[in-house]
Formats: sequence, structure tokens, C-alpha cells
Amino acid sequence: MAGGLHIVMLAGECVPYAKVGGLADVLGSLPHELEVLGYSVSIIIPRYRSIDLAKFGFEPLTGFDFKSFDVHRSILPGSGAQVFLIGNDGFFGRRGIYTDPVTGWDFPDQADRWIFFQRSALEFISAVLPKVDILHCHDHQTGLAAAYLQRFYRGHPTLARTGTVFTIHNMGYQGVFPADTMARTGLNPAEFFPLSPFEFYGMLNFMKVGVVFSDAVTTVSETYASEIQQSAEFGYGLEGVVRSRLDPPVGILNGIDYECWNPATDPLLVARYSWDELEKKRINKQVVLREFGLDEGRLDRPLVAMISRIDVQKGVDLLIAVLGDLLAQDLAFVMLGAGNKETESQIQTILAKYPRKAALNVGYDDRLAHLIEAGADIFLMPSKYEPCGLNQMYSMRYGTVPVVRATGGLSDTVQEFDPNTGKGTGFRFGPYDALHFKEAINRALRYWADKRAWRRIISNGMQSDFSWARSARRYAELYDSVRSRYQA
Ligand code: ADP
Repeated sequence: MAGGLHIVMLAGECVPYAKVGGLADVLGSLPHELEVLGYSVSIIIPRYRSIDLAKFGFEPLTGFDFKSFDVHRSILPGSGAQVFLIGNDGFFGRRGIYTDPVTGWDFPDQADRWIFFQRSALEFISAVLPKVDILHCHDHQTGLAAAYLQRFYRGHPTLARTGTVFTIHNMGYQGVFPADTMARTGLNPAEFFPLSPFEFYGMLNFMKVGVVFSDAVTTVSETYASEIQQSAEFGYGLEGVVRSRLDPPVGILNGIDYECWNPATDPLLVARYSWDELEKKRINKQVVLREFGLDEGRLDRPLVAMISRIDVQKGVDLLIAVLGDLLAQDLAFVMLGAGNKETESQIQTILAKYPRKAALNVGYDDRLAHLIEAGADIFLMPSKYEPCGLNQMYSMRYGTVPVVRATGGLSDTVQEFDPNTGKGTGFRFGPYDALHFKEAINRALRYWADKRAWRRIISNGMQSDFSWARSARRYAELYDSVRSRYQA
């Protein structure tokens, strides 16, 4: 494998600086594993107001005058990857990453923020960075970058032979804006016409631009790569565009951060454990019950949990449909999540009928997320669609058995337990309805009562390999093959 390539990643979020979802975890973990394989990685994200520059060692980059933006530089913790923050207070000096925390809605100037970020990032790259072998863009916020590269930067030595990779983390968010946005992109407005790479039902679609202009497209699981080509249910109108690519999208499953999510060393747990000390999960379970204000007398009953954005994608309507039946049983239920305000209060209203038995904590709380993964017995992920999903993998690593809908990455990572072979790591259901979800939960609850089988399921999950090392090898192969197209 050719080493030494310089990969530049553009994205809207990156752990530990700014996180909304799984995308941030990818940016925070993949670079280090790529370095192990001999690649050098630079990451570029916006300088959000919430990023504590001093805490993360960011220093202003001097010697360049970019006029409309500033740049800060640091090193990604635990790696040698350079991180650059593109700053402009008008666009990024506010609270919130994609949405206004007050209204819960997207910022009204969303298109302009991302146009600005991408153009500035390419300006910065061409002026400052060494030769770029691969520009790897993530999600619609960076969908225009490959088009900018083609149209404006091929004459720059840094970017003359740069290959492009575009990763779709979530097809449900495409960045679709009114047609007049095209005039503000700086690209030629004449390129916007029906069926052009920019046009999507009369609107400008950033994701479509990324899919059409990039040399390679990836998604974050193999099943999702085929689902987004199959129907509008997963492709959200871009299924034909993805299908018409000469090289189909490549599915590369996300890994999980094995240092951050390791029950044997996790500092956020009350009791740490490995697979042969499962009784220690109980100590964490007790703390979870206590922190959610639940009856600690339920310690010997199953603790069912969910940690999720509260959003239609995550199957919260199915959860709402089964909650009554679920809570009629002798168990405890906790949920951590935030999102749609109406849905939050709908869930609260149901749970209020079971005061010491079930609770929802509205908010984003990393410590509590770790503790729940450690303390729960059963973890629910009834997603409508799931490009990859991380929580089911965290659950398996923490000895918590997932109940998932068999879609996307959930399908690729969780196998139904088969009592005949002793294989399988969880419980799955196919059709997106309350009946099948309920049946899957009930199967899990039945096996929970069978201690031997339950231990087996837990140990199968804890021994599965969800490492980034495995995923990074697949990205490396792809980078090498894209790069070879640019070799003279
Ligand atoms: P998505 O990116 O679609 O939200 P993933 O499962 O891929 O879903 O990643 C979600 C990530 O965000 C996981 O690391 C999960 O633990 C975390 N997470 C989601 N909601 C919360 C929350 N309310 N508090 C803490 N962590 C959360």
C-alpha cells in the first residue's frame, strides 16, 4: 500500500471540538488510524464560538492575510493530525452548530455559512498546505468543495492532482436551498439548469453536487450503500443520481473509538469491568436508576435504555407506540436525548404515568451516555433508517444487548441471537411497525431471564471487532485507488 499520502478532510464537526452526531466521531477517530497506515491527515472545520481555543491549544496562524476569515491551528489529541479552524464571527460566532438552540430550527443563513466555509477552506488549502493527494469531504455541508476544486483550483500546484472522496453520513440531510442560492456560490449560474449536477426539483442541492463531482462516494455501511440506491425511502430523491454514478458508492462501516468506549478503562463509569466481571455492570445500573430518580428496588429487573437524537429518523414514533406495553411489564426504562420539542413532551407525558419506573432526561450529556451504556441491560434502536449507527456498537462493547431495526449499519453490525448455534449479538426486526418492534423487545426480555443464554449474547457482542483500524484499511485502499487515477 502506498504510504505518505496527504489527506485533507473537510467537515462541519469533529470530536472533541464540536459534535452533533456520529460524523464528529469519524473525524475524531479515523485520522489517527490513517496515520498508523502511513498517511498524513489535515482536518478543516469552522471555528464555532463554543470551541475553547486555549483548552485545545489552538494558535492563530500568522503570515497570511485572508481578509474575510482567520485560521487557528492545533493538533488532534492522540494523533499527529493537524486541525485548522476557519473563523468568521458573522457566520460561526454564534451559539449552535447547524441549528439555532433557541428555536431548534436550522439557521436561516445555512447555505451562506457553508458556501463561505468551503470557499475559505479551499483558499486556505491552496495558499498554505502542502500538496493534497485526496480531498475527503463529509456530508452536504462540504458537498460543493469538489465542484470548486474542479472549476477554480486545478491551476494551483497544491490541488492540481487532488482526487476527491465524498462520504454520505446521512442522506436525510441534503442541504437543499432555493435556486437563487446558486448566484451566491460563486459558480457559474449557467450551470444551474434542469437535471444539471446542481439542480434538484428547481432547487440547489449540495449533496447532489458532492455525489456527482467526487471521484469516489462512500457511505458508512454496506447495507446503507445499497439502500440509498434502491428507493426514495432511503435516497430521499437522490437514489437515481447515486445509481447513475459509474462507480457505485462504497460502504465502509464506521469504527468506534476503542479508547474512549472501553468499559475496562472508561473514567466516566462508576465501576469499570471486562467481560468476566459483568456483575460490576450492576453498580453502574444502580447509579443510572438513582440519577434518573427511579426506584432502586428495580435493580434486579431489566433496565431498558435509549440514547438518541429525538428525531423521526431514530424511530421515536415506534418507541411512542410501544411504550405503554413496554412499561406495563416489570422493568425500568431510561432515555437520554434531545431534539424535536413536541416529541420530547409527548414522551414525557407517557413516562409521567410511570414516575419511579421510567424517565427521560432531555439534553446532551456524554458522561450520562457512557454510564447508561454500562448500566443498561437492553438498548433500543428502532431507526427508520440508520447509515451506520454508533450506539449499537457501544452497547455491544459494554455488554448491553441491542434491539435494532434491521436497516443500514444496524443490519451490518447486529446479528439475531440463535439459541441453536449460540451465535448472535442482539435482536432485530424488519418491517417498520410497532408490532415487530414489540416482538423483538419481548424476545430480548425472554432471553434476559435465561442467564446462560444472556451471558452468551453479551460475550458475543463484547468480542466483536468494531475497531477503526479495520475501517481505516478500507479507506486507505480507496484513497490509493482514487489517487492512481491522477498519476501521469
Ligand atoms: P446520529 O449521528 O444519527 O445521531 P449515531 O448513533 O451515529 O447517530 O451517533 C450518535 C452519537 O451521539 C453517539 O455517540 C451517541 O452516544 C451520541 N448521543 C446522541 N444523543 C446523545 C445525548 N443526548 N447525550 C449524549 N450523547 C448522545
